[in-house]
Amino acid sequence: MNDHQVLGLHHITAIANDAKRNLDFYTKVLGLRLVKKTVNFDDPGTYHFYYGNESGTPGTILTFFPWEGIGAGQNGTGLATHIGFSVAKGAIPFWKERLTAFKVPFEETELFSQKTLSFKDPDGLQLQFIEPASPDNKDNRIPWATTDIQSQVGIKGFYNVTLTLEKADATAKVLTDILGYEASKQEGQKLRFIHPHTQTAGVVDLLEAPNGPRGYNAAGTNHHIAFRVKNDDILMEYREKVLAAGLQITPKIDRDYFFSLYFREPGGVLFELATDNPGFTIDEPLETLGSTLKLPKQYEGMRSKIEKVLPRL
Ligand code: ZN
Repeated sequence: MNDHQVLGLHHITAIANDAKRNLDFYTKVLGLRLVKKTVNFDDPGTYHFYYGNESGTPGTILTFFPWEGIGAGQNGTGLATHIGFSVAKGAIPFWKERLTAFKVPFEETELFSQKTLSFKDPDGLQLQFIEPASPDNKDNRIPWATTDIQSQVGIKGFYNVTLTLEKADATAKVLTDILGYEASKQEGQKLRFIHPHTQTAGVVDLLEAPNGPRGYNAAGTNHHIAFRVKNDDILMEYREKVLAAGLQITPKIDRDYFFSLYFREPGGVLFELATDNPGFTIDEPLETLGSTLKLPKQYEGMRSKIEKVLPRL
């Protein structure tokens, strides 16, 4: 495996309304682990929740900014519109029963010949459980287990993400020419791209919807998707590649748990590149990840004020 490569998805960040409702849905109903409870570094009166597997391995991390009262967004062109989670073969019947018990409507479909269960979170974010088709499925990630959800049926991490676009061409070119994805199959208006250097979280689908509504970022929509690189040296190699393609990109930003670059791809979706280092155990031990509020250095002096304005969980 060539380390100087994108290694699939790193995390996806979405917007929610109510913080407690979001926390309950992802940790209790879906059984993800809250691996970090911090604040939005650009808006410290708002939480930033990170959900994932035990250690928050890149490729398993779904993060939320719960902006209370923001109102509903619109899923449409120019946004990442569907998040696909990988589950083990045979896990979908368990999830049908569980979603029914929690009164979450779902639809059972087949996408690219894979069993898929589509449903929405309480804010309308579009989620999918996918049983990757064997025999080429090499997803050996161990799900976080809860009392209700055994690790055999739990969420392994991302399988894919779907971007909805007015036109797919320019975005496809970014995926292949800059990020190293390869065009795979087509099904209807959907084009599948697979990264050859990763076994997990390596699929991006582009859905062309030339007449679809334009997406609008608020609750129930994805804010950005982040691609994974091993470390900050490789991150900066990608910065040069993005610039060479004539796109604008931010300088390196320290997000405490990873280093980041952001750029908007031509179809309108906000892309990020994020590193494996230093990871979520930088400021608390693995056993107690997510149990206390973590603040970046610049806000530590304002802790009592911040704790007072954050919503009750
Ligand atoms: Zn991000």
